[in-house]
Amino acid sequence: MTRGDHGAVDHSEWDRIKTRLKKEFGDSAFKSWVKPITLDGMKNGEVELAVPTRFMRDWVVTHYADRIRALWASENPAVKRVSIKVATGAPAPQPQASPIQRASALSMPVPPTPQRAAVPFGSELSASLDPRYTFANFVVGKPNEFAYAAAKRVAEADEVSFNPLFLYGGVGLGKTHLMHAIAWEIRQRNPQRRVIYMSAEKFMYSFVRALRNQDTVSFKEQFRAVDVLMIDDVQFIAGKDATQEEFFHTFNALVDQGRQIVLSADKSPSNIEEIGDRLRSRLASGLVADLHPTTFELRLGILDAKADSLGTPVPPKVKEFLAHKITSNVRELEGALTRLCAHAQLVGGEVSLETAQDLLQDLLRAHDRKLTMEEIQRRVAEHFKIRLSDMSSARRARVVARPRQVAMYLAKQLTSRSLPEIGRAFGGRDHTTVMHAVRKVEELCRDDTAFAEDVELLTRMLEN
Ligand code: ADP
Ligand code: MG
Repeated sequence: MTRGDHGAVDHSEWDRIKTRLKKEFGDSAFKSWVKPITLDGMKNGEVELAVPTRFMRDWVVTHYADRIRALWASENPAVKRVSIKVATGAPAPQPQASPIQRASALSMPVPPTPQRAAVPFGSELSASLDPRYTFANFVVGKPNEFAYAAAKRVAEADEVSFNPLFLYGGVGLGKTHLMHAIAWEIRQRNPQRRVIYMSAEKFMYSFVRALRNQDTVSFKEQFRAVDVLMIDDVQFIAGKDATQEEFFHTFNALVDQGRQIVLSADKSPSNIEEIGDRLRSRLASGLVADLHPTTFELRLGILDAKADSLGTPVPPKVKEFLAHKITSNVRELEGALTRLCAHAQLVGGEVSLETAQDLLQDLLRAHDRKLTMEEIQRRVAEHFKIRLSDMSSARRARVVARPRQVAMYLAKQLTSRSLPEIGRAFGGRDHTTVMHAVRKVEELCRDDTAFAEDVELLTRMLEN
């Protein structure tokens, strides 16, 4: 067989090279990047390879071209060059379509291809998005208006605005919902922007797998090629040193290139333990926006919206009842309403206060049981670094009296105990003492933001 002077192609050489590449780069990289490459021809010592999209072309050129060239040279000394072009579908006679250049020349002019838009970027990496989690379906109230506005801004901005946007808040307060909403909005506004949304666990898992396959280079590059990287629940990365380090580098590379990053966590950067100070300060270097625990009004608003979408009439009394009773988390609140409506539809009854109380017994009881006064006292004592026994002691010094009042206040807010019951749990105090404590804490929360933050943090910790 003659080689070199005309288009004769020896597929067995290419097959052997592919086998080598598979061994060297691992199965998943092979599948994503090598397998789609086709051997088009060979002319004058130049092997011509083709890939379906321009993005792939750039990728293969940067990551695999040198290796392919070297392997080919060892297979067949007549091969001097390897070029990688974008398959045009139809035979394209323009000179640009058959670039006779060194494969590593990234600047080679290639006509724009529509294929790239057809294959959503990172579709195999990015988690799928819940169609219900849009901005339109997000009910805005005092506790989340700031996070909502920040998310909206990032989604609508054509230029990187806050980087990173760090959303944090307790379980079920809408972090994932807002992140999906950002991703939807960006994809809709500009389908060309490459958005990856994934959980921190998935990020960790992919990284570990890449390590195992000795494929960390393409792992890194996948992330470094995105326009918007969104990672949910980054607290999972805490304590996992290697992943954390990798995340940090990816993060820096993207920020330096002016790409948008959006993160969520259940705590603020300063409260995530076991992350390095460098990462911590980087996380906090953009805009940190928190989702506060819901208020009664917001819960009611969410129930209104949800009831509308379920199409079963729900009396206002029932909504109020639920909004009062299920305070910790929107997911449970929605779950309760769905249950009531489903029941009404299935057995053909109406949603009423009685059926609510009846059907949700377990849920309501679980809520009451979940938090004991002892637990509240313990957490508050820890937080203010006083002894647990001081919760019931007679000491009146402010260092212990104030935390004790906070604990009483929280017992009132977070449990269904009566004032006398609470008083008894705090060393047999009178119910008027408890009442005074509640008022005092409310007053301090209004006047002293640092104090209000302490109380809010405790509330959130205890509710989760
Ligand atoms: P997180 O990620 O903070 O734990 P999610 O975003 O998963 O919470 O929210 C839990 C559920 O509550 C989701 O079904 C979400 O749609 C809903 N939800 C939370 N906040 C709101 C809100 N403000 N408006 C409408 N739905 C909400
Ligand atoms: Mg979430």
